[in-house]
Amino acid sequence: MIAPSIVPPGSTIGILGGGQLGRMTALAAARLGYRCLVYAPDEHAIAGDVAAGCVRGAYDDETALRRFADQVDVVTYEFENVPEAAVAACLEVRPVRPGIKPIHIAQHRLREKQFFASLGIGTAAYQPVRSDAELAAATLLPGILKTCREGYDGKGQARVRDRASLAAAWEKLGRRDCILEALVDFRCEVSAIVARGLDGAMRCFPIGLNEHRDGILRTTTVPADLPADVLATAERLGLALARGLDLVGLVALEMFVTGDGTVLANEMAPRPHNSGHWTIDACATSQFEQLVRAICGLPLGPVDVMAPSRMENLIGGEADDWPRHLADPSARLHLYGKTSARPGRKMGHVTFVQPAASGRPPTT
Ligand code: AMP
Repeated sequence: MIAPSIVPPGSTIGILGGGQLGRMTALAAARLGYRCLVYAPDEHAIAGDVAAGCVRGAYDDETALRRFADQVDVVTYEFENVPEAAVAACLEVRPVRPGIKPIHIAQHRLREKQFFASLGIGTAAYQPVRSDAELAAATLLPGILKTCREGYDGKGQARVRDRASLAAAWEKLGRRDCILEALVDFRCEVSAIVARGLDGAMRCFPIGLNEHRDGILRTTTVPADLPADVLATAERLGLALARGLDLVGLVALEMFVTGDGTVLANEMAPRPHNSGHWTIDACATSQFEQLVRAICGLPLGPVDVMAPSRMENLIGGEADDWPRHLADPSARLHLYGKTSARPGRKMGHVTFVQPAASGRPPTT
């Protein structure tokens, strides 16, 4: 007899959001014998291309959302800016994992920082900038001004040197609710991706070493060449976050590591994460399979590194380089099937996997 909250293979998973994270989730789910139904407002949802079905609908169409949820056995989301009301509508009909609380927190930078603090997870110093009075009181300069909502890949943020550039940046961001963060003089950036199952069991993927350019993730290298205590701290913070959120699913925590080995949280995402794409080709269980296992109540998979690897994002026109990657025996190419390559758009990624027994680091 199967416990009622377990969603066995053969069932249907609903995915809110139609991008590459949903696409790779649907591919992993299919391998385990699940069907996926995607719900997205996009005219062309690339996740829908590889799913059993795709519903085109708006995130504020609660009737359509309830109808969608009624056709699936469990619902998840592939991006954290799905409106809370959309998740609530699905929840009336089916379990939504990881649920509302993680997106409620992740959708607002100030709330997120306060939540980190409540768990004893350190962050950069910050001050809210939501009014002329708070703007006048802001002192963390030079710093980074970030909108509280809807910032991603470096969007909705500006580096500011002094009071004049701070005021100008706030105007440019539409005087929206913001936080001013002190600039962290970091040695490197890392991320922890933690899965938590229905039974509360947790697994943290090996910590990835991340390189960003212009606010966008460019590469992730695993294993991260960092002292064992730094890696252990990063993992501990990731686990504390997953436990604190009480989530069933995945959460990624992006962190800064400073010169003295202090680890500070930057932001979290309660979904598969770009810095975990290496797991498809170089880990015993991919982050996408792990998400499926977690939300369906299956046992979590092992997270051993199968080979040292480096993931590189293919952004905009870089995806046109696919013939070169196909010719490289160490490269595992993933293209997302997006039709227009706008600058800054993630079109695919390639994971360079160290060939077995070669002893050589992966090359581009
Ligand atoms: P975010 O959108 O907050 O993830 O920021 C994108 C990237 O900008 C980060 O991965 C860092 O490379 C950089 N960044 C963000 N916040 C800070 C900070 N307080 N100090 C230094 N660099 C930062």
